[in-house]
Amino acid sequence: MTDHEDTRERVADVCRRLAACGLVNAEAGNVSVRVGGEVVVTATNARFVELTADQVCVVDLAGYRLSGDLEPTSELALHLGIYRKFGTSAVVHTHAPMATAVGLVVEELPCVHYYMLKLGGSVRVAPYSTWGTSELADSVLTALDGRSAALMANHGAVTHARSLDAAVEQALLLEWACTLYHRAASMGTPRSLDEVQQQAVVTAALARMNNAPAPTSGETS
Ligand SMILES: [Zn+2]
Repeated sequence: MTDHEDTRERVADVCRRLAACGLVNAEAGNVSVRVGGEVVVTATNARFVELTADQVCVVDLAGYRLSGDLEPTSELALHLGIYRKFGTSAVVHTHAPMATAVGLVVEELPCVHYYMLKLGGSVRVAPYSTWGTSELADSVLTALDGRSAALMANHGAVTHARSLDAAVEQALLLEWACTLYHRAASMGTPRSLDEVQQQAVVTAALARMNNAPAPTSGETS
């Protein structure tokens, strides 16, 4: 076990970035990254805009605190549940304004743009439960099936990914998609991509990946 000083700094950086992007208001959000069998996670009541590494603690996958002076986030069960269920490496939970607003009025955010396929397509809204409860964690885990993002009714949003930077990008993408949906819905009924259109995007992306030339040794860009 180490105190993961570098990772705690990275988590603190990410938190301040999320605040600067307007995704997190005051202490309303939490971030974690898994390093092997340990999880580096923000402390409860940490204010994102000024969050520092000493407000980030380390727990094991059972939630036992290994280092850090403060208690981990009250949504720790959600973070740990995501790691156990999906084997992923980073989780970002925010009360981002547009994601939270959209989660108040829809049961599922439809796939209105092909970039949403980076989130798995449409984004489900997990039913409301009180913050910090196992019921909330369970409903969000269900909503995340086959997805890297979920909205949380009357609460916020969560994303997960294989790296901290990717989880942040997912959170920004989700907020963008919710903003897009809101703007479109104010003018009429937004069109969604159907299953065939979504599959064609996935097929095109896979073909592009497979056709990309392999980097040669010594290649730098
Ligand atoms: Zn929350």
